[in-house]
Amino acid sequence: MSVNIDSMYQQIILDHYKHPNHRGELADFDAEVHHVNPTCGDEVTLRVRVADGEIADLGWTGEGCSISQASTSVMSDLVVGSSVTDALQLQEKFLQLMQSQGHNDLTEDETEALEDAIAFEGVSKYPARVKCALLGWMAMKSAVASATGAGDKP
Ligand code: ZN
Repeated sequence: MSVNIDSMYQQIILDHYKHPNHRGELADFDAEVHHVNPTCGDEVTLRVRVADGEIADLGWTGEGCSISQASTSVMSDLVVGSSVTDALQLQEKFLQLMQSQGHNDLTEDETEALEDAIAFEGVSKYPARVKCALLGWMAMKSAVASATGAGDKP
């Protein structure tokens, strides 16, 4: 299935796919999760280290389509070094964006906070690909929950 999205956004996604950030196995970590998106065949294994309420470090490995891998790279850039609270709020905003079917009602500030992640906005029009874009973000959320002992609570 081809995804027709803005060419500037397409470039951001391709750049992250070719040069993923925070890709690699973290030696020192508090939690590890493995998430799969069976409909597309995407996989990501993500490790996180949480210290003083912050995401001190995060590393991931994975395989799959460019959307899933690029989105995980973008997510990593955004959350490493930020507080757990901010990271989970951002995850919530990205989830809203991906469920918007191309008509999000995020504020200007929220859009700005998402930085490169806004490049995936066009993907929200393709229900089959939404799970690709969300894979890394969902993995981050559950890894952080497991690292902080918060279970499924946000
Ligand atoms: Zn995919």
